[in-house]
Amino acid sequence: MMPELHTDIAVVGAGPAGLAAALAVCEHGGRVCLIDDNAKPGGQVWRAELGKADSQVWLANNPAIPAELATRLVQADKLRVLTATRVVAVTATGSLLLEDTQKSVQLHYQTLIVASGARELLLPFPGWTLPGVTGAGGLQALVKQGLDVCGKRIVLAGSGPLLLASAATLKAAGAHVLLIAEQAKSWQLAGFVWALRHWPAKLAQAAHLRWALRQVPYRAGSYVQAALGKERLQAVRLKLGNTVREFECDWLGVGFGLLPNTELLQALGCELQNGTAKVDALLQSSHPDVLVAGEACGIGGLDKALLEGRMAGLVATGQIAAAKALIPERELHLRFSAHLARYFALSPAVQELADADTMVCRCEDVRHGELLGYSNWREAKLQTRCGMGACQGRICGAACSTLYGWPVTGNRPPLLPTRLGSLLQLESTEVSSS
Ligand SMILES: Cc1cc2nc3c(=O)[nH]c(=O)nc-3n(C[C@H](O)[C@H](O)[C@H](O)COP(=O)(O)OP(=O)(O)OC[C@H]3O[C@@H](n4cnc5c(N)ncnc54)[C@H](O)[C@@H]3O)c2cc1C
Repeated sequence: MMPELHTDIAVVGAGPAGLAAALAVCEHGGRVCLIDDNAKPGGQVWRAELGKADSQVWLANNPAIPAELATRLVQADKLRVLTATRVVAVTATGSLLLEDTQKSVQLHYQTLIVASGARELLLPFPGWTLPGVTGAGGLQALVKQGLDVCGKRIVLAGSGPLLLASAATLKAAGAHVLLIAEQAKSWQLAGFVWALRHWPAKLAQAAHLRWALRQVPYRAGSYVQAALGKERLQAVRLKLGNTVREFECDWLGVGFGLLPNTELLQALGCELQNGTAKVDALLQSSHPDVLVAGEACGIGGLDKALLEGRMAGLVATGQIAAAKALIPERELHLRFSAHLARYFALSPAVQELADADTMVCRCEDVRHGELLGYSNWREAKLQTRCGMGACQGRICGAACSTLYGWPVTGNRPPLLPTRLGSLLQLESTEVSSS
């Protein structure tokens, strides 16, 4: 028999949104189960640094998490935390299949808060699968988890504020960041910075980052054309304005902005809008028992994630007036999200970097040239196996949406590559509920 857990409120994702949601639930007496697939809570922005967070204390020893939040969470009653645990499937209304390295567990909840965060948009270009090429935020995460980049020459390219945040982490780790190539044009960046006057804290944060990176060239209207090397990355070819230059380097981090993680929401049957969970002003999804918070319902950064997490926790515990009081502040964050999307919109040039030989689906070795003959994701998937590998279309699905305009639909359980034991449990659950 599969072990079963019962909770009032389940929160998927222990990033800022999930932690804030869990705290709000606890403060109002609810019983909450917080699930995250990382070894420590914190999500992307507060990712626990290896070696600095290896105590058994589940949260208090991650110094990236603000001390007050950490302390209140550690003291919270009725909070159960499952780290290194993934949600792999929806088994029935109000039930999720979870797994860790040892076992599968069925979790029953009354209300679910999905705070599953975001991932980077990776677009294919010649050489992007060479060892030494990673996502820009991915490289930041590797460094936080112990990759030694001291003295390494690094180029960052792509789009959005994450390039600066990654550069700051890499520089603090002793790397030599040669250049940041931002695809947005100078006038877009100027517009973005001008608009930041409505968000003084973000303006201060941007100024602080730019000051910390004052010796790192930051080139607008610039993008990667190719990663060069035989066995491993040796150099990168960049289009810098009207010129093309090659830089020898050890690492290349490339990310073209962020995409909400919506696979669980899709499995739950929640409606999406422009690739993001469709929610009302109180973060209620189209599914009656499912609330969404943080990047999963729109890219907007840390402050938005914290606020929405709190709102979702309040709504889940029936504190509707308190949640409603936060709506005006959320609207300010939503305006910031809209500015971000507007000023860092991708130029057509970066959507056309792949040549016929460029790998699009790196799990199943499917190249751009092979995909050109298809008209939709399903057809391409069935004929080429694109999107059917280990990442289950998380990387190439988004790339295909951007390159060919295909909506990615029809994902099936499990949500992630899964232990055989979980697959058997999934099958027996499906049989018994049918
Ligand atoms: C690679 C990367 C690096 C970033 N670095 C920064 C930075 O340095 N500074 C900054 O301001 N912003 C950064 N961001 C932006 C960041 O998304 C937000 O600022 C903030 O972390 C959003 O909080 P969140 O709680 O919505 O999501 P997240 O912090 O992303 O937390 C979501 C959590 O849910 C977990 N999860 C998702 N699906 C499942 C599942 N099925 N089962 C179990 N767990 C699941 C994820 O592993 C993650 O821990 C980064 C984003 C990315 C993608």
